[in-house]
Amino acid sequence: MKRLKKYEREIEFCSYCPKLCRFSCPVAKVTCSEASTPTGKMTILKLIKDGAFEFTPEAAELMYQCSGCLLSRAYCEHVIEVIGAFEAARAIAVEKGIAPKRVMEFGAAFTKAGNPYAKNFGAELRDLTSGRHLQKAPMLLFTGCTMAHYFPETIKHAAKVLERLGVDFEILAEDGLCCGYPMFATGHEKILEEHKTRLAKKLAGHETIVSLCPTCVWFLKTHYQKPGLISAGAISHATEFLSTRLGALKLKSKVEGKIVYHDPCHLGRYLGIYDPPREILNQISANGFTEFHESRERSECCGGGGGLPIAHPGIARGIGMHKIRQFQQLGGELLATACPMCERMLERSGKEAGGVKVRDLISLIAENID
Ligand code: SF4
Ligand code: SF4
Repeated sequence: MKRLKKYEREIEFCSYCPKLCRFSCPVAKVTCSEASTPTGKMTILKLIKDGAFEFTPEAAELMYQCSGCLLSRAYCEHVIEVIGAFEAARAIAVEKGIAPKRVMEFGAAFTKAGNPYAKNFGAELRDLTSGRHLQKAPMLLFTGCTMAHYFPETIKHAAKVLERLGVDFEILAEDGLCCGYPMFATGHEKILEEHKTRLAKKLAGHETIVSLCPTCVWFLKTHYQKPGLISAGAISHATEFLSTRLGALKLKSKVEGKIVYHDPCHLGRYLGIYDPPREILNQISANGFTEFHESRERSECCGGGGGLPIAHPGIARGIGMHKIRQFQQLGGELLATACPMCERMLERSGKEAGGVKVRDLISLIAENID
C-alpha cells in the first residue's frame, strides 16, 4: 500500500469531508449510490490504506467508478484531485489480479497490437492520405488511436486543413498507435512502461507534435515530455494550433444551425484550453454558438474518460445520456466538440436518444473550405 502514501492528503481530506462535492460527480449521479461519491470511494481507500479493510475485488471494482473528469475539483475548497489515488489503487488491483475481469482482459487485448482496439492502424493511416505525409517533417501529427478507430474521416479533414495552411507535417502511421493512456487509466503499469519505451522512439526528432486528441496531448506532455522521454519542443492540441492560423484560410461557407459546444475534460480541466475552440467556433459559425448550462471549468463529462467505458460501460453510457438530455433541452442542432472519445460517447448516446449530430471542430473547418 506504499503507493497510496503519496495521496495521503487527498485521502484524509475526502474521507473526513461531508461530501461537499457529491452533487457534481457524474458517476454518483448515475449510480445513486453513496459509495460512488468521491467521499465514499476515498473513505474505502482510507480504510484499506490503514489496514482496517481488505482490498477485495468488490473494493477494486469501486476504484474504477471514476471517469477522472476532475469535476469534483472545481467545487472543492481544497482543490483536491481524487483520480490520482484511484489510479494508484487500480495499479495495486491489477498487480494483485483483483481488478474487474473486463479490465484484466483489456490489458491482454492491448498487448496484441499496442492499442486498446487490438487493431493494426499503420496501413489504414497510410491509405487515408494516399501515402502523403509519411516523410520526416518538423511537425508530427499524432492522430491518436480513438480518432483512427472511430473517425478516420476526421484525420483526412485534419490533413486537408494543414495542407491548405501550407504546413509541412508527418503523420505517425504506426500499427501500435496509442499514447498509452488507456493502460495508465486502468492500472496496467507494466504494459504501459513497455509501450512508452517503444513509442518514445517513434516520437523522437520532431520539433512539435500536434494531436487531434486532448487525452493524447495531456498524456504525452505529462508522461513523455515531463520525465524527459522525448525532447519535442511543443506539444499542442489541434484547436490550439489552428485557432491562431484560421485567418489564413478562406471559408467558402459557415456552419449553420444552433451549435452547442462541449468542453472535453482533458482539453479543459486537464490542459486549461477553453478559448481556442471557442475562437474557432466564432470564426466558422454563421450565428455563433451556445454554451451548456455548465461549461468551461464546470463542464460536465461525457462518460468516456478514466477507463470508465471499459470497467463500467453502463455508468459511462448513463453519463453520456445525461449530457445529451441537456443538449436537447437547449434546443441544440449540432453538438460540437474537440475530442474523439467525447464524439464517440455523445454520438452513441445521441443515437439512443433519437439521433444527435455530433462533430469535431476540425471536420467543421474542413467542410467549409475548398
Ligand atoms: S474533493 Fe474536496 S469536496 Fe470532494 S470529497 Fe474531497 S475534500 Fe470534499
Ligand atoms: S473525478 Fe469526476 S467521476 Fe471521479 S470522483 Fe470526481 S467528479 Fe466523480
